[in-house]
Amino acid sequence: MKRFLRYINPVNHLGDTHYSFIFPLVCNILLCILSEVFAYGIVRNPSIVGNYIIFLNVAFIIYFSFRDGIIGGIISTCITIFYYFYIITTRHYTGQQLDSGVETTFILALIYSLLAITIGWLKQTIDKLIEREANEKKHLETIIQQLPVGVLITDAKGKLTRRNKQVDIILGTKIPIGFIFGKDTLPSEKINNKPIIPSKAPLMEAIQKGKSVMGKEFTYTRNDKKTLTLRVSSAPIQNKKNQIVAAVSIINDITHQKELEKQKDDFLSLASHELKTPLTSLKMFIDLQKMEFQKQDMKKITYYNQRISDQTNKIKELVNDLLNVSRIQTGKLAFTLESFDIVEVICDAVEGLQATANNHKIQIISRKKCMVRADRYRIYQVLVNLISNAIKYSPNGKKIIVRLKEDTTNVVISVQDFGIGIDKEQQVKIFNKLYQVSNSTEQTFPGLGLGLYISKEIVDRHKGKLWVESTPGKGSTFFFSLKLSKTS
Ligand code: ADP
Repeated sequence: MKRFLRYINPVNHLGDTHYSFIFPLVCNILLCILSEVFAYGIVRNPSIVGNYIIFLNVAFIIYFSFRDGIIGGIISTCITIFYYFYIITTRHYTGQQLDSGVETTFILALIYSLLAITIGWLKQTIDKLIEREANEKKHLETIIQQLPVGVLITDAKGKLTRRNKQVDIILGTKIPIGFIFGKDTLPSEKINNKPIIPSKAPLMEAIQKGKSVMGKEFTYTRNDKKTLTLRVSSAPIQNKKNQIVAAVSIINDITHQKELEKQKDDFLSLASHELKTPLTSLKMFIDLQKMEFQKQDMKKITYYNQRISDQTNKIKELVNDLLNVSRIQTGKLAFTLESFDIVEVICDAVEGLQATANNHKIQIISRKKCMVRADRYRIYQVLVNLISNAIKYSPNGKKIIVRLKEDTTNVVISVQDFGIGIDKEQQVKIFNKLYQVSNSTEQTFPGLGLGLYISKEIVDRHKGKLWVESTPGKGSTFFFSLKLSKTS
């Protein structure tokens, strides 16, 4: 019953389904029957009343037909009007009493309903097809727009028909739709710093050769002067007859990847150089020691022994640094916390380094016991790194001062040198991995740019802070804080 009511309720469903013809159809039949009965039974002149009723009927059908899809409505209405017009004129001119009133209405209703069903069904099918295609198009467009790479689509002549937002972001400009690849040029289009030859553009090459062009690398300078390295791959799109109908280009910004590759290469050559230096010295001291063995000069043998041990330690430290960096990156740098006197660890580190420092005097201010809770070995590592940097970067300095300052919860340890110092703007960068201050002077210092990065990671993991205060030409002071042990 509900379903039936739904069919005959014009407001509820008209225009939605092809059943919507039912309401005007039923009304049409009822009106015509009523008009015939009314005309014969009461007035006995059906042509007078019938004409009004027919006009009412036409208006009625026009109204509902228009509500039920424009094309279906127009066709059915035209047929209806034409047919009624025919009846009216026939009645008027012939004065003939057509007894075809009810039958006519039924035939008319039948034509109307058949048409309404066919057109409604066609309309629904076409609507569904259009909707499906629109959805597919929308889906594809969403995918293209959201791809993390730049996408350019052209017609078979290389004329841009579509591009996604990522292209605009990468290129820093909007290539206009209609731009012809291979003919129009972007001001900064270059391959390996040479302007690009239009026919060699990957898109054009793909269209001309009819096959994909993979991974061409471009150097592209944007309007904001930033130079990017782009990797472009293009492919022709063919129809069923193997004709090229379009071409697509995928643009990848590989600038960061290239920088990382360069960093890796630089690091490898630096690391090999840093390892080669102590290895060469090691070999030299072993050879010299061998010669002294023959002469049995114990003094020199002991001297070379010490040098061999120094060089071996350097190699060990370098390898340790490399291992620590990889441990930090994989989150495997392990810590074992214990309570200990930090002054003891400072003294250990100073003692070890003082033995190798020929020109510097390392001074510890305040040797009052100070208990901290930390990883003893890692903190020793931080101290060794800061003090050996202080020695390395103060070639003309004579003094290094290690201080301790305690408050209620923390202790701050500082290492002061009177060396080359660090520029203000470099003071944050030196804690980055592989960062080394490039010196304009002739002075060069060995190192990999890893010590401070590792030290900062260690101090951070203890919830402490590591920072520097420095004046170029006067010296630097590195500070780090640690939490005091509650059991002290
Ligand atoms: P490395 O010393 O092996 O190059 P570090 O990470 O220990 O690496 O130091 C990073 C950079 O910070 C160094 O290359 C150097 O330029 C600068 N630096 C570190 N300590 C000092 C210091 N005490 N005085 C001046 N510059 C320093």
